[in-house]
Amino acid sequence: MDLYEYQGKQYFARFGIPTSKGGVAETVDEAVVQADAAGYPVVVKAQVKVGGRGKAGGIKLANNSDEARAHAAAILGMDIKGHVVHLIWVENASDIDKEYYASFTLDRQAKLHLGMLSAEGGVEIEEVAQTNPDAIAKLHIDPVDGLDEVTARAWVDAAGLDEAARDQTAALLVKLYTCYVEGDCDLAEINPLILTTEGKVHALDAKVTLDENAAFRHPEWEEYAGTETEDPREQMAKEKGLNYIGLSGSVGIIANGAGLAMSTLDVVNQVGGSAANFLDIGGGANADVMAAALEVINADPAVRSIFVNIFGGITRVDEVAQGVVDALARVDIRSPIVLRLDGTNAVAGREILAPHLSDRLVAEPTMLDAARRAVALAGN
Ligand code: GDP
Ligand code: MN
Repeated sequence: MDLYEYQGKQYFARFGIPTSKGGVAETVDEAVVQADAAGYPVVVKAQVKVGGRGKAGGIKLANNSDEARAHAAAILGMDIKGHVVHLIWVENASDIDKEYYASFTLDRQAKLHLGMLSAEGGVEIEEVAQTNPDAIAKLHIDPVDGLDEVTARAWVDAAGLDEAARDQTAALLVKLYTCYVEGDCDLAEINPLILTTEGKVHALDAKVTLDENAAFRHPEWEEYAGTETEDPREQMAKEKGLNYIGLSGSVGIIANGAGLAMSTLDVVNQVGGSAANFLDIGGGANADVMAAALEVINADPAVRSIFVNIFGGITRVDEVAQGVVDALARVDIRSPIVLRLDGTNAVAGREILAPHLSDRLVAEPTMLDAARRAVALAGN
């Protein structure tokens, strides 16, 4: 889950990372109140979960209330790379001497955390990586060892930061690392990290991605619910407790088990179709789960056919078949459904289904046949 800049800064603040004084606003009037409170000059910043806001005109300096009002009015409602601005963050402006870059993320290949630090911040780090890769000092960190201030200080030296910024940056990096680890971030990035003309180092921007697998130990993340810009299909699936990922094709997929769901996607592709989603209904494919799954897929306007692929192991096919029948009595499905049911109690399952089969509910004996049928029905 990606956070807005203001949420990221508030997250940073919990771990003692210095940021500018500011506040969030939904309206022009609120923005002026926040600007007055932060103290002029202020920067008015569009809150969208996409980078390059500065270049797009989403970040403006205001010297007084009138300017803050004008900038807030211009930025609210602005479209930045397809993201409409509904929120702005207003903070006391900083006098920038230098702009740096700092981040922590996971290096999956190295199986270690990766810190990146550069004296060339303020621009996209991908750009620095291309034009001047030596300007990025990388530090791999073993999660068992963590990051101490001595190591951080040597890293800051290696990155060639200005002398005046080195001690403060080393201390800040230890805090950012703590935020990244204890705060369960997939990414904690500051770009730019600045040295002010008064010689203070602090975070001028914040990009935080939280690891949603850790949500169970962060009840405080509750406050981010509703501020996510999630796929509406995924949001609906989440509310129903389903393991769903939206895709761009036309064949809706329901399978039991993540492995089978992935294979189902492959087979649909193999026969020339494209999946509208990944959906693993897990072991207990009862009527409630099946109805929820069908409802989510039914709500996707791109879906033209639905492929239900169940292999009964511990799950019994007759129960699944009954689940499908019960679910169909509850949900009015737009698209034809193709079933492939095999495994434990498959014969009993097919018997339950037999009286319900039609051109809207089709059974096929194999996964490949079912995929072909579903793709044909989808019109591919
Ligand atoms: P991004 O473009 O979405 O990454 O937004 P940032 O928050 O990184 O801001 C972009 C740029 O705006 C920064 O690199 C700064 O150059 C400038 N900027 C942002 N805040 C301030 C500020 O308080 N003072 C000054 N002088 N410039 C700022
Ligand atoms: Mn930035």
